[in-house]
Amino acid sequence: MLAFDEALERVLRDAPRLESERVPLVELSGRVLAERLLADVPMPAFDYSAMDGYAVDSRAFAGDGPWLLPVVGESRTGAVPPALEPGSACRIFTGAELPRGADSIVMQEDVERDGARARFSARPRRGDHVRKAGEDLALGAVALEIGTRLGPAQIGLVAALDRGAALVARRPRVAVLATGDELRSPGSPRRPGTIPESNSFAISAMARVAGADAAIAPAARDHRQKTIAAIERALAESDLLVTIGGVSVGDHDLVRPALEAAGAELDFWKVRIKPGKPLVSGRAGKTRVLGLPGNPVSALVTFALFGVPLLRAMQGDAKPVPTYRSARLTEALRQKPGRRGYYRAILDGDRVTPLANQASGAPTSAAWANSLVVVPEESDGFDRDTEVRVLSFADL
Ligand code: AMP
Ligand code: MG
Repeated sequence: MLAFDEALERVLRDAPRLESERVPLVELSGRVLAERLLADVPMPAFDYSAMDGYAVDSRAFAGDGPWLLPVVGESRTGAVPPALEPGSACRIFTGAELPRGADSIVMQEDVERDGARARFSARPRRGDHVRKAGEDLALGAVALEIGTRLGPAQIGLVAALDRGAALVARRPRVAVLATGDELRSPGSPRRPGTIPESNSFAISAMARVAGADAAIAPAARDHRQKTIAAIERALAESDLLVTIGGVSVGDHDLVRPALEAAGAELDFWKVRIKPGKPLVSGRAGKTRVLGLPGNPVSALVTFALFGVPLLRAMQGDAKPVPTYRSARLTEALRQKPGRRGYYRAILDGDRVTPLANQASGAPTSAAWANSLVVVPEESDGFDRDTEVRVLSFADL
């Protein structure tokens, strides 16, 4: 049985890299950059005013003030201004280009208008309220590195770089295959002994958070040939096959042998974590395989811990593994040592409260939580007020 770190390292080791595609700005959210973006023009492209006010030449302010200067001309956004008349002030607005000959802006709140003239009581300093061309990014400087995950601010920068599209990794195709004789579609007629199949919806939603195109395959019965056939079909059309259930040691747990019969090479099938001990990782040709345990919480936790980083790595994300936070326990948290524990909890600022119900079969235990508190393998838990490592679901 592998420790968590080794298991994750093996899942991420030679993660297959997906090809890239050019995607327009409006569809870039969450995608991973497959090119390094340089500034092909300085940013900003020209000197401009950061304020509404008057563009002046600071050298025109000799002796003692106040200074009275004629107002000549205007610089407004979207137009190229005339050069500054020597000894005058030019009306200027935020974002408008600095007239040639001017070196500073005096904000209008500090200026008194006197008809066609403006009265200045303080001497401006060269550069006041001027945004210089290239001060944000010089021509040719790196704006965004390859492997950057594009959120709102990064997409804004791509657009500010004057590009309508960017080269990003294509979305990984994920096939989610639930297994079990007890499963039926949510909302379908109730039959004794059956339960709604819920995991594939949770897992495919999480895969989409990680940038994937996720498809839910029809659930497979606990029947060897049917399971093999379902696995073969799902393998053929995915970059990652995620099976759910059937990987523990019960008589009807046939996913592991079925994966092998379908041609998958399994790397490991047990990890020293709780929940989620029976976790399968392998590959079939270029398709990666993750076999998650069927308990709803185990499936969700293992997919968060292994599936999300794998999908990100496949897209070339420079940081596929989320950053853990640190928070203080509001109450004691105990476990039996031997496996690294991931306890569902509510993180609120720097305080974290484990939920009372930690049953891995209870979907509420995941749905009412927003984070996982990590308890190391060898530890029997922590006292209240201990600083612990926390994985916030928001950081996935
Ligand atoms: P298994 O891993 O197949 O032994 O399943 C463990 C538990 O999870 C059993 O109680 C199953 O009924 C339940 N389970 C398995 N797959 C699903 C699923 N897709 N949706 C909801 N519950 C499931
Ligand atoms: Mg089962």
